[in-house]
Amino acid sequence: MKNLAEIDCWIFDLDNTLYPASVNLFGQINVKMSNYIMNLLDIDEVAADKMRSAYWKKYGTSLAGLMRNYKVDPDDFLKVVHDIDFSVLSKDINLLDALNNLPGRKLVYTNGTVPYAKQVLKYRGLLNIFDEIYGIEDATYIPKPFPEAFEIIFSKANIVNSRSAMFEDEVRNLEVPFKLGLKTILVSDFQSSEKYVDYKTHHLSDFLRQINSNSFK
Ligand SMILES: [Mg+2]
Repeated sequence: MKNLAEIDCWIFDLDNTLYPASVNLFGQINVKMSNYIMNLLDIDEVAADKMRSAYWKKYGTSLAGLMRNYKVDPDDFLKVVHDIDFSVLSKDINLLDALNNLPGRKLVYTNGTVPYAKQVLKYRGLLNIFDEIYGIEDATYIPKPFPEAFEIIFSKANIVNSRSAMFEDEVRNLEVPFKLGLKTILVSDFQSSEKYVDYKTHHLSDFLRQINSNSFK
């Protein structure tokens, strides 16, 4: 098992990583995305849901598939689908404390946009804890898990791969960071046996507390 003592840069996915999956923001976002597709292509909800999910699997995000196949304007799409009720999120003092005590740079890297990430972080009480926030617009709308996306963002952020760690709830988004030499932490309730997962936790702030108490040296 690799240790985390050398890590001085911590990269966090946003959705379902920095808030519990049970909050289900994607429940709201998915409805907006399907509505967008229904209006765009004049199809029914079942067909739109199917397309949204198939594009997510094939292209990394539903947006990437819509851009490729229907030349959808990403800014317009993202503004519409991120217009949701953020008040379902609550402040997380334990996570704030754990992040505060974590030594080094702290970044957010999301397949959402920076303004969306800031809204989520504001409602979680975590907005000021991160040094930098990167969104899909910073990666020319190429999403994780594609290697080009990580290359663009890691280069912009001057990431030193061997001294960085990535936290993610989607296991497929950890494969490239692992290959690049980052430590990878899956934040999820689901089991996973992928070789590119160094650590797995179902509770982010507990895991960060363990790092802070040097349990991983
Ligand atoms: Mg996520």
